[in-house]
Amino acid sequence: MTANVKQITRLLKPLRLLLLGPPGSGKGTQTSRLLKQIPQLSSLSSGDILRQEIKSESKFGREAATYIAQGKLLPDDLITQLITFRLSTMGWLRPPATWLLDGFPRTTAQASALDGVLKQHNADLNLVVELDVPESAILERIENRYVHVPSGRVYNLQYNPPKVPGLDDITGEPLTKRLDDTVEVFKKRIEEYKKTNEPLKEYYKKSGLLSTVSGESSDIIFPKLLNLITSKFGH
Ligand code: ATP
Ligand code: MG
Repeated sequence: MTANVKQITRLLKPLRLLLLGPPGSGKGTQTSRLLKQIPQLSSLSSGDILRQEIKSESKFGREAATYIAQGKLLPDDLITQLITFRLSTMGWLRPPATWLLDGFPRTTAQASALDGVLKQHNADLNLVVELDVPESAILERIENRYVHVPSGRVYNLQYNPPKVPGLDDITGEPLTKRLDDTVEVFKKRIEEYKKTNEPLKEYYKKSGLLSTVSGESSDIIFPKLLNLITSKFGH
């Protein structure tokens, strides 16, 4: 193999992964990196879907925006219906699909609703990873963060700037600031996270699925995350 051929990872078993972690912990960044590294993998981010709904000014998007702008979670049944519908239309309920979820489930009610759906199709989650990033590192990232809404690609003006300022690297389309990436709304999102995350972690600890990877930056976390996945799912 020549040095400029990127090495890819092939999994031997289907992976159905949930990424957990506080707002701004880099779930979107880790997702992009995993997708590049593991061609078999697909991903779905509840936040990205909601931002696309808002952008298209759908009825659902308008309703979602009222919660998101305040840093509040959407009602469990609303988000659960949206996401499980997507899972089924994308064919993710038919094993051996290999996928990762970011941002859903967020509460134990969502987790048990999802488990119910997945169980019916013999496609249970088989790994849950919490990204453990210090809160001090997170706040600073939020202010420098820009997103490409159609793809969910995330940029950081400091660590991971776009090649052309203000434009997505792949499509050249404009980047935008998230309406909830302000200091005040961010505080509220962190509060919401703290309330719901402990019981959610407990839920997945009980089912034996939970692992944690810690680090100050996405560069430190990524190799640990990839190692964890390949040690369990082969390569
Ligand atoms: P980040 O994307 O910075 O890691 P985050 O996890 O807070 O942070 P998103 O997942 O993009 O951000 O979610 C943004 C908002 O969308 C949430 O604050 C909430 O209002 C809504 N939302 C997303 N997923 C869910 C969910 N599973 N349940 C309820 N609300 C949700
Ligand atoms: Mg995100």
